[in-house]
Amino acid sequence: MDIPWVSIGRIADFEGKVVELRGWLANKRSSGKVAFLIIRDGSGFIQGTAFVGDFFTKDQLDEIKRIPIESSLVIQGKVRREERAPGGYELEINSLQLVFPSEEYPIQKMEHSVDYLMERRHLWLRSKKQNALLRIRNVVMMSIHEFLQSEGFILLDSPILTPAACEGTSTLFELQYFDIGKAYLSQSGQLYMEAGATAFGKVYCLAPTFRAEKSKTRRHLTEFWMLEPEVAYYDWQDNMVLQENLVSFIVNQALKKCQNEFEILERDTAPLQKIQPPFPRISYTEAIDILKKKGAPAQWGDDFGGDEETMISEGFDRPVFIHHYPAHIKAFYMQPDPENPTMVLNDDLIAPEGYGEIIGGSERIHDLALLEKRLEEHHLPREAFEWYLDIRRYGTVPHSGFGLGIERTVAWIAGVKHIREAIPFPRQIYRIYP
Ligand code: ATP
Ligand code: MG
Ligand code: MG
Ligand code: MG
Repeated sequence: MDIPWVSIGRIADFEGKVVELRGWLANKRSSGKVAFLIIRDGSGFIQGTAFVGDFFTKDQLDEIKRIPIESSLVIQGKVRREERAPGGYELEINSLQLVFPSEEYPIQKMEHSVDYLMERRHLWLRSKKQNALLRIRNVVMMSIHEFLQSEGFILLDSPILTPAACEGTSTLFELQYFDIGKAYLSQSGQLYMEAGATAFGKVYCLAPTFRAEKSKTRRHLTEFWMLEPEVAYYDWQDNMVLQENLVSFIVNQALKKCQNEFEILERDTAPLQKIQPPFPRISYTEAIDILKKKGAPAQWGDDFGGDEETMISEGFDRPVFIHHYPAHIKAFYMQPDPENPTMVLNDDLIAPEGYGEIIGGSERIHDLALLEKRLEEHHLPREAFEWYLDIRRYGTVPHSGFGLGIERTVAWIAGVKHIREAIPFPRQIYRIYP
């Protein structure tokens, strides 16, 4: 009889059958004549039981009990429904092959500091919680593609090596590019997406983004992933509708596909159930008023940090748009409000539950002369932007887009406080290992 190799994630389909699992020993305990082995294979965790009896002698069982944690194993046994077991199923082991014994595993059950765990991130990924978290990330990524593709967007990959800074130069990673001169790691694919929007109408990139962020907050990494859609003929209001529909779709897909992960992470999903369009919209000036009423020392003209964003979002049960920021605290390419050119047609989307800004978006300047003026005001090297100005020379149109931070979105949905756990291998000022 052929015994099928199955994954633990699909074990429910094999109740009553004998199956083979190929995985690792995540944990174990034993009492007398029985060993309880927690097996993981990447798709899930299951408890296997081995007894002294038909399949194992007492000596064999003693050997099994001595198998070190994280050893690789191939086991066969019968799948049994077991209400009390985590996951609802158990495996009655009838054969066990030790593939390779593990050395003493450095991550044991007791509490480790995050620093200790981050030094061993390559191993920490195996843990139940980290596994659940990164599975949610996977669903977030796939939902983004699913939503945008169904809306007619084209995935247009942006370059990582770039000749110019998109916004300011203080957070750039710089490198020497052969004889040409300085190049920079991309801080945003937006400018390229603007070119793409005039070629394909609706485009997006989903790529790593690099910023030498000097601030050590729980919301900033030096390498993070950003989704950047850009649409020709969209104004700043169409842009917000796209954002609220996309974010709602992502959250709903996670609710549909990640119940098990939410349980492992003890994420209360009640706040996520409320995420549906439309999202509330307030102006920057209204946001300042909210802060003043709450006694925060906010002045008109200040940009918001994480604390302010949390205070503003407290009164809302879904993400809130803040639109019409003062132009001088925003990027050079944002379209001024025709009625009040000191303000721009932009929005920041602030997540609920204290997760802060997850999106920054705007209508872009489409007028050549105005864009040239802005480049000058911002002391940006004109030569590097000639191609970008071409977009305004040849058939310019109003267009809009935004950047959504993947790690912040994942951290919010998964309910983890620090975004360093929302990416497989985080890069921070003081961390580039492993
Ligand atoms: P913040 O005000 O929090 O520093 P930002 O306004 O500088 O963010 P944008 O340039 O608007 O960020 O980038 C778009 C999105 O990318 C942000 O809304 C956020 O979700 C994400 N993001 C920006 N910087 C980082 C970072 N250093 N680490 C992780 N995500 C980031
Ligand atoms: Mg920033
Ligand atoms: Mg910001
Ligand atoms: Mg922003």
